[in-house]
Amino acid sequence: MAVRALFPTLVYEAPLGNDDRLRRRLLDEARRLREVDGDGRAWCARNYPGGYTSYATFDRLHRSFTTFAELERRLDRHVRAFARRIGFDLGGGRLRMTDCWVNLMGRAAVHGLHLHPLSVLSGTYYLRIPAGAPGLRLEDPRLDRFMGSPPRGDRGRPHRELAVRSGRIVLFESWLRHEVPANPSRRERASVSFNYDWVRSAE
Ligand code: FE
Repeated sequence: MAVRALFPTLVYEAPLGNDDRLRRRLLDEARRLREVDGDGRAWCARNYPGGYTSYATFDRLHRSFTTFAELERRLDRHVRAFARRIGFDLGGGRLRMTDCWVNLMGRAAVHGLHLHPLSVLSGTYYLRIPAGAPGLRLEDPRLDRFMGSPPRGDRGRPHRELAVRSGRIVLFESWLRHEVPANPSRRERASVSFNYDWVRSAE
């Protein structure tokens, strides 16, 4: 008898690197960006209660700020490793960062279920995860096909919360739905999120 696990959903986790200075600089710059980004704060007051994200106003930070460009450089290595592990055949092309933005989630801030259309790989670098702050909640991509399937017990739960830690990254394929549950902590949860797309010929 054999029971095989076919079509697994892969999620990559790793420390970004040994150097903590980049993390602290990114955290400073994220907070400074919030101070100067009045349009972004107004957008967040309507769409992101309790938090600040630069997604609506500054979503290509790696093109404008050397600190975020340095983050891109360090992430590229992890993205290449994950792409190899998935088995992508990029046909002589490569994966390239297209979007990069910051998220500062205060108490009760929440980021509802979503995916990242028009991208191949997405992920997050965690700048500051205070004790008690939520991780990353992932949804089983087969959920809409289960129909009459019985419940599966603890190991088959359709949502899994991945614990996340400051200084570490998580990468996943952009079609995987995910969310950040409400932050119960008074202390801020801070992260940088990003998307990579596929450039099909060397540019
Ligand atoms: Fe996301």
